[in-house]
Formats: sequence, structure tokens, C-alpha cells
Amino acid sequence: MIKGNYHTHSYWCKHAVGTFEDYIRAAEEAGFEELAITDHCPHRYSWCWLHENEVAEFDEELNRAIAAHKDKIRLFKGFECEYIKEEMEYYKYLKEELGYTFLILGQHCAGEHGEVNCFDMKNGYEMRKYADSVCAGLETGEFMLLAHPDVVFTKYPVLWDADCDKAFAQIFKTCEKLKIPVEINTNGLRGDRGYPSRECMTFSKDYDLKYLIGSDCHDPRHMHDEWENRAVSWAKEIGIAVEELYPWKDRLQNG
Ligand SMILES: [Zn+2]
Ligand SMILES: [Zn+2]
Repeated sequence: MIKGNYHTHSYWCKHAVGTFEDYIRAAEEAGFEELAITDHCPHRYSWCWLHENEVAEFDEELNRAIAAHKDKIRLFKGFECEYIKEEMEYYKYLKEELGYTFLILGQHCAGEHGEVNCFDMKNGYEMRKYADSVCAGLETGEFMLLAHPDVVFTKYPVLWDADCDKAFAQIFKTCEKLKIPVEINTNGLRGDRGYPSRECMTFSKDYDLKYLIGSDCHDPRHMHDEWENRAVSWAKEIGIAVEELYPWKDRLQNG
């Protein structure tokens, strides 16, 4: 049984619905013990989501929601971040000054200047750039979880090839070494987006990894819907057991 969710959005990202309150309540109703709010973090190449100048207001609203619920559920403040070298100082500021301790790595754009769109990967060269960005991000030690490692299969022209072998050996070896759990992304299944990828997750079994189901909910009704069970079964079919809660307790700090 899944007892926590560590990938949660809100209306602030401008492509989701529901307030922090709505998501926290949905998690309580699901009987979850832990919830991390991890909306898209502002960065210099972001397309349309939360802006840096909205963070103060965002933070106030989140703090209020947490204060009202913290006796009922363990809540973490976080963000879903892109690894962009120049933004690491900003992410550290959010972590250290504002308590956004649960940073997850979700690479939607890769390359030095975010020039590779991970939803529209065209070739092995881009796949290798993606692996480099993800691994450089993980190596900073700032991230708790690797969100949808297989997001690149949204439009990649084949299911798997030699470039994928190379890229994902690099990624999963790094997750193994740094003990970063890998997400099975329910939102991908829910939207039939090409991820989670059976080929990719089967390949990941060669490494000693821990897996978490990530609802990646953009609607509070998706916090704990039937797709959660489907994601657990999907993983089971390929021989992956998922964790009920974040596996490395010593790394968790309340937001
Ligand atoms: Zn989103
Ligand atoms: Zn994402």
C-alpha cells in the first residue's frame, strides 16, 4: 500500500488545478502519512509556470496550509527542479532560507541552456545530453528523488536503442551510487504519454535501486485515484517492488 506522495503540483504552476489545502486534504483522505508539495520551480528557461516574483506569496500560502494540517500528516515543502547549473544557488536559497528541503529532480529541458526539450527528443545526441544534465543534477546532492527518468520517451522515435543503453546506464548507476529513489510516474500512465517506459524500467533492474510511485498530480482528484493501483501493478509486472514511503528516513527534514 502506498502511504505517501512526493510529487504534487498546485494551481500556482498555471497548468494544474487546486490549492495546497485541496491537495493536503486529498492526501489525508487517502490515508497518506507523508506528502511533499513539489510544484515546478521557477528557473531562467521556464516556459510558463510559477515565476520567481510569485515565490513569496506562494510560500505564505503554503506555510498557512501546512500550519493548519501539520498535526494530521507529515508535510514537506519542496519543488520539482530542473538541473541548470546557474540555478543551483537559487535552489539552495529556497532550501536553506525558506525550508524547501524536498527538492526533486525532474528534467524537462536539458543541455547547457535548456535547449533540449525532453518531451520532444529526436535522437541519441539529445538523449546523451539529457543523461549528462540528470547526472550532473544528481551529483550536486541537492535532490531527494529522480522524477520520471523516462519522460524522454514521450516522443523518442524508438522504444529503446544503444544510445538509451548508454544514457540510462549512466543515470541508474548514479542513482544507485547516491541512493536516489527512482519514480514510477503515475501521471504518465494516466495520460498514456509514453512513460513510464517498460523498456527503461526493465533496464533499471540491473541496478540496486529503490522506487517510489509519484502521483505527479495536477488535480487533487488524482492524488490517490485508480491509476495509483495500476502503477503499482505495472511495476510489479516487470518485477519492480515499490516503496510505501520514502526509503531513507534520515534524509527527511520537515518543511
Ligand atoms: Zn506540471
Ligand atoms: Zn515533471
